[in-house]
Order: sequence, then structure tokens, then C-alpha cells
Amino acid sequence: MNHEVDEAHGQAAGPSLGHHCGVAGIFSRSPINIPEKLFFPLFALQHRGQESAGIAYRKGDQTVVYKDLGMVSSVLSRYLTETRASTTGIGHVRYSTHGGNKVENVQPLHVVCNKGEITLAHNGNISNTHALKSMLFDEGSIFQTSSDTELLLHLLSRSRAASFYEALIETLQMVEGAFSMVLTHEDSLVAVRDPFGFRPLYIGWKDEMTVIASETCALDILKVSDFRSVEPGEVVVIDHEGERSDFLPRQPQHRQCVFELIYFARPDSQVFDVSVHTARKQMGASLARADGSDIGDIVVPVPDSGTSAAIGYAEAANLPFDFGLTRNHYAGRSFIMPTTSERELAVRMKLHPVREVIEGKRVVLVDDSLVRGTTARILVRLIKEAGAAEVHLRLSSPEIRWPCFFGIDIPTRSELISNHLTPDEIAQRIGADSVRFLSLDLLRESLVAPNDFCYACFSGRYPVNVPLTPEELMADSREVQMGDHA
Ligand code: SF4
Repeated sequence: MNHEVDEAHGQAAGPSLGHHCGVAGIFSRSPINIPEKLFFPLFALQHRGQESAGIAYRKGDQTVVYKDLGMVSSVLSRYLTETRASTTGIGHVRYSTHGGNKVENVQPLHVVCNKGEITLAHNGNISNTHALKSMLFDEGSIFQTSSDTELLLHLLSRSRAASFYEALIETLQMVEGAFSMVLTHEDSLVAVRDPFGFRPLYIGWKDEMTVIASETCALDILKVSDFRSVEPGEVVVIDHEGERSDFLPRQPQHRQCVFELIYFARPDSQVFDVSVHTARKQMGASLARADGSDIGDIVVPVPDSGTSAAIGYAEAANLPFDFGLTRNHYAGRSFIMPTTSERELAVRMKLHPVREVIEGKRVVLVDDSLVRGTTARILVRLIKEAGAAEVHLRLSSPEIRWPCFFGIDIPTRSELISNHLTPDEIAQRIGADSVRFLSLDLLRESLVAPNDFCYACFSGRYPVNVPLTPEELMADSREVQMGDHA
């Protein structure tokens, strides 16, 4: 994906599609330094959210929560030098946009209620938040955050069920949408994945530890090699009596987020039981086969998001692959760049052409997706200024046209360039010699189990009810009804 400058709001040279969080949890049969252990999976999941980080862990018969705005390395590094014996803990990294980056929304959330002491870290978005929250609000509930995650805790506490576990199952059947989450209840660790399986979640075992994490890269860092996916609709409870797994009664067709494979997950991860790198290469290869003709001399990725797909494209097209753009990994997403020249500077700070690679060449530039087109326009100009003879932009996903209600931040419909322009018109707008997207059919063909995926941001066909009418969707009014999400 292009690392876009937000034209509409005149700020932020950051990515235009945002992840909404990563989660991790650890249970150990005997006390270990749980906060220190949690640091590493959260560090590995940093790409899923850079705005805040936090952990919660048991210390004796109490729960300690530490969380703040900032990256894992700054918020949680204190735990690398101190020993805290514990058996249970969870952690969270968070990205936020709609509700703003408010400290009260930082997770894990922690409550003491009639079901006991509970902490919760959530990745996803509860799509019926508005209806449930309005009901609770009218009945007198007080909300301290704008996060849909707090709703789950309200529902848990209000349940008349006899036990925490029964209350949890009852709560999970009331909410719709995407929820991969970890909870602690007293000394136990719980992992939950929604029945559609929108967001990934993995469970692994090493020595006395059971580790839960959004992606396998977070297990790898702890050398956890024995793992499996938490299945859609599965609820796993881990405590001193062992591990138990149940399934929620509702078992719909799975709808895993295809964008996890296209862009969000780390290429060295497995999500949905496939290698992310391999899936992206396959998408790039499909893109090349659709192109067919001889359009380029060299394949150049937009790093890092387009790298795997570009390798797949180059292999399938039998063209050389090279890094014609370098990425500065120290450029953050916190710039305020209101003018065109400053936006260009922000892009230059992140991505810069390697003249020796591209001069005189017909460049096939590969990225994962196109959102507003702002950065693509700047990149094409930079590459042409560096001497490229032609620039052909290839995107390893279909045109994004619709918002997401399941945990990914996508700009409003009017901001998405594919809602206004055809690929040829986009090429003209951004100064490229051609622009082509991977078709939805070819995307499906490149997946192992295509019927198990959600494609709603491309097709507008949502697998569950969304909180807007078709008219409201067309009118771009989603932000008035959506809460902040994890
Ligand atoms: S709408 Fe798009 S981003 Fe959202 S869950 Fe579906 S595929 Fe993923």
C-alpha cells in the first residue's frame, strides 16, 4: 500500500489504511517473568498498531496494568530489566483513527465486576456496537472510553449467567463483527475468535507456556514452533487445571479478511494457515500473467508493502527484480504536511529512487493497493525524474471502493480514487504510463480456500449486517455511527 499523505485532512504522511491492533497472551504453569515475555510478541506485532501499547499481568491475587501512548519499545522496555513472577498476562498494540488517539482507549481494559477481575485486549470491530451501546446507555450505563471493547465488559458484567464462562459465551453471542481477543479472568487466560474468523489468532506451546498471538511472527520470537490457529468461533480457556476448547453455537461460512494476506500481516507470518509471503507472491504472479505482454524491463517494489508481490510478478514475467526504491525505516507517521511540496518531502523522507537501477528502464512498479493515489503520483514523478523511460503501476489487489466495518480503517468512499476514476484515468492522473489492478476473480484464484474470505472493501458485499443503510453507505456517512475500535 502506498504510504499516503492524507490530502483530505491535510495531515499525516502515514499509511491510509490502518491496522486495528494486535494481541498477545501468555499462561505459564509455574511462575515466570510474564511481563518480560510479553514484550517480545508485542514488539513483533508492532506493525499492527503503533500508537499505544500495554500489558496486564497477575501479581499474587491482583492484576497489574501498565499501558500508555507510544511504541512497544518505549512504553514497555522497563519490563526488560526487572523480574516479575507471574503465571498469566495479556498485551495489546493499538492503532486508532476515528476515536482519536486517546489514552483512555489504550488497552488492555481492566475491570473488577460481579464476575471477578477481568482484563481484555481486542483486535477487530464490533459491527453492532451502536445498537448495543445505545441500549445500554439508555438503561443508565456509563462508558469511559469510545472503544467498542468496553461494550464487551459491560455485557459480561450485566449477564445473569452464573459463571464468568457462561457470561462470556452469552456476551459473545450478542455481538457481531470481528473479534480476535485475549482475556484474563483471575488467573486464567482466555482466547476467542469470532465465528467468521475475520482476524487471525494463533495458539502455541513451549515448555510450560501457552502463548496466544495475532500472528505467528509473535510466536517465532519466543521460539514457539508447536502452534495452530484458534479456529473461527473457538473459545479456549487455559488455567491450572489445563486447557479447554469450545465452539460458539453459530458456525457461519468463514470470512477471513483477505487484506491480512494482501497487506496487513507480516510476510514472515502465517495467517489463516498460509504463508503471507507465499500468498503475496502468488498474487503478484497472477498480476503478471494477466499483463501478458512485454511491458517492462525491470520490476521494482514499493517497499516493504509491495516486495513479496513484486518478486512473484518478476518470476512469472521472467523479468529482473531490483530495489529501485529505498525506504527509510526511521520515518514515522507523525508528520504534519499541509502543502503539496511538504507532502512530497514527506514521501521523499520515506521512499527514494535508486537512479542506477531505474535509469533508462521501463519500470513495472508493484504495490499492494491504491487508496487515494496521492503518494503514487509523487512516486511516479520521482521515478521518472530519476530517469525511468516508462512507469507501469501494478497493484496486487482489486480496486478498494467500500469501507470496512471489521477492524480496518479505510477512508470514506469519496476519498477512494477508484470510486472516481478508471485505471486508465488514474494512470493519467498520477502520470504513469499504465495502471492495472489484480481482478477480484484472479485474487480468488490465487487463494487456497477462496470461499472462506471477506472481499467486502472491493465488492461492497458485506458478510454480516453493517450499521449503515445502503443509502448511508453511498453517502459516506459511516463515521457518525462508528465507535472507535481496536
Ligand atoms: S472489508 Fe476488506 S479490510 Fe474489511 S474485513 Fe473485509 S476484506 Fe478485510
